[in-house]
Amino acid sequence: MAHHHHHEHSGADLTRAAETTLTKAGEQWTAMRAQVFTALAGFSKPASAYDIAEAVSKAEGRRIAANSVYRILDLFVGANLARRVESANAYVANAHPDCLHDCIFLVCDRCGQTTHIDDDTITNSVRGAARGAGFSPVRPVIEVRGTCAACDGAAGTA
Ligand SMILES: [Zn+2]
Ligand SMILES: [Zn+2]
Repeated sequence: MAHHHHHEHSGADLTRAAETTLTKAGEQWTAMRAQVFTALAGFSKPASAYDIAEAVSKAEGRRIAANSVYRILDLFVGANLARRVESANAYVANAHPDCLHDCIFLVCDRCGQTTHIDDDTITNSVRGAARGAGFSPVRPVIEVRGTCAACDGAAGTA
């Protein structure tokens, strides 16, 4: 992948990178925030605040309100620890919390699995086009709906 030079984290390594990034942003890595991040990173498809509240409630053995999860997700998005997938109306853990990109999401319409690519040439040109139209871009949202390789294979079209 041409413009993909950064390191992508996963598992415990991703959690450590997220903790480092949040702490650097002057925020505390509380037990609750750690739980929410672990739950979010455990989903293979975009998760809603309700999905995550459910997972954390199970892990904690007590009821966690979706509202408190929502506030933490909001903080995570602001700190580059999580991304909102708009067309799925849900969140994914950011695989590179230490590196800021306008991630391009690939959302499978069959299984819901969402992966992402980074191509700053594309996203910078979207930002440039917006600026050219007199608009101040904050966050380009580029999401591609379609079929993932696994679902393509399962359908016998590979
Ligand atoms: Zn990315
Ligand atoms: Zn799929």
